[in-house]
Amino acid sequence: MSNRAFALAAALTAALAAPAPAQQNADWTRPFPAFKLIGNVYWVGTYDLSTYLITSGDGHILLNTGFAETVPQIRQGVEKLGFKFGDVKVLLATHAHGDHVAGLAELKRLTGARVMMMEPDAALLEDGGRSDFRFGDEAGTRFPLVAVDRRLRDHDTVVLGGVTLTAHHHPGHTKGATSFALTVRENGRDYRVVIANMGSINPGVMVSGMTKYPTIGDDYARTFAAQKALPVDVFLASHAAQFRMHEKYKPGDAYDPNRFVDPMGYRAAVERLEKVYLDQLAKERSAGPALAPTGTLRVAFLGSNPVHARVNPGTGTITGPVADLVSELAKRRGVPFKLIPAPDVRAVISAINSGEADAGVMAYEVARAREVDFAGGFAVMFNSYVVRLDSPLKSVEDADRATVRIGAVRGQTQEIFLSANLKQAKLRIYEAQPPPDELRRLLAKGEMDAFAMNQQRIEDAVRGSGGELRALTGSYVDVEQSFVVKKGEEARAAELKAFVDEARESGLTKAALDRAKLVGVAVAPPR
Ligand SMILES: [Zn+2]
Repeated sequence: MSNRAFALAAALTAALAAPAPAQQNADWTRPFPAFKLIGNVYWVGTYDLSTYLITSGDGHILLNTGFAETVPQIRQGVEKLGFKFGDVKVLLATHAHGDHVAGLAELKRLTGARVMMMEPDAALLEDGGRSDFRFGDEAGTRFPLVAVDRRLRDHDTVVLGGVTLTAHHHPGHTKGATSFALTVRENGRDYRVVIANMGSINPGVMVSGMTKYPTIGDDYARTFAAQKALPVDVFLASHAAQFRMHEKYKPGDAYDPNRFVDPMGYRAAVERLEKVYLDQLAKERSAGPALAPTGTLRVAFLGSNPVHARVNPGTGTITGPVADLVSELAKRRGVPFKLIPAPDVRAVISAINSGEADAGVMAYEVARAREVDFAGGFAVMFNSYVVRLDSPLKSVEDADRATVRIGAVRGQTQEIFLSANLKQAKLRIYEAQPPPDELRRLLAKGEMDAFAMNQQRIEDAVRGSGGELRALTGSYVDVEQSFVVKKGEEARAAELKAFVDEARESGLTKAALDRAKLVGVAVAPPR
């Protein structure tokens, strides 16, 4: 499914399954009698939305809230069990979606308890869900803002009156999703109780990566591994249905500390969700994502431009910044890739337009932007001239004089720029890049005073000239090397842009340029 079609489908299903207004799922608000789960852990939630009361000799903890309108039910439950609502000292939640945190603001107001939340979800509590990577733009999923008093990190403990809860960061469902573990002693035995935040996937979420959550897939994978490694006797979760509470307990059943002991059920639930995740990941990757509709990411570049990549003439091996970036992008998307060396920019454009390539690489030019969409510049390339060693010219500024003849290759960035900008020098246009020997001969014989190229090409020519040639200092134009796509391929352009931005920020682009030992090239600035 294309990204656009996926987004549309997501918009249609989101209304049904997202953590939206309470009335959409009657079980979320339907009252349920409070009861003792095990030891000092009690259920004070609704029929399906969990709220756990964890009592201590020095005040109590409430974990999860349901919606704002369920707060009176929670209060009733606490008091019916014989505890004082005002003794609630700490408010926690498994993740910052409205169905688990919308009551926090009211509970904090009523009890004065401290709100503690895993760091990445603390921001959501404080902006009412606006920065949620999936639901942030949907007004129906917002909840009342609440200030966070303590930001938790993975494995932090919450200690109150001899009770110790350990917070396990289990991201994926949200960036700060958290499972809480505590040990309860009953009948001379220790029970390891886990209130698990299960790794379910909301409609419209793409586990292969989302712009506002690029690492979501790795987070889910790590969470499933961590959850499988977590020792669990008593299995509890954010929703009653997730740990089959109603199959294990009916109102009025006698207290039994073993009632919710279910390590196998826990393990099976984690594995079931992991399989859903793996299936969805495989489907997203094989469904012909916008980036690589054939299943292979194919990128055309200028085979003769070392700023893109170098093709080993013997082996055909392609190395260089474009090779590094494309292989990393393909790895992240779980697809193979193919690099297509093209003789010139026209060939890159025709490969894109014919569908032979999904993307291309070229220097930004206004004229080219009318033919292809520029999707993200990764490198800035500086341009100069190569001259004879004994040339009187020193810098690029010296070259634009009436007596100077400059060579450039038709359609290359330098030719396009100089054709429009040279004031006095004469420009002679070549149909193709002269081979090194020919270039040396042209300059040596005085047919040409200077030849316009990028600084890396000049470096190559100087090195191969046996001391006959040198470079002029400076750059007459700095051009941006960019990924391009066929006009109108918006989803693909957006994916490339997101990747280029990430590669810049993570240092990947810099490392690729360094590895290629390029001269006169820098990482493109963000735009
Ligand atoms: Zn949720």
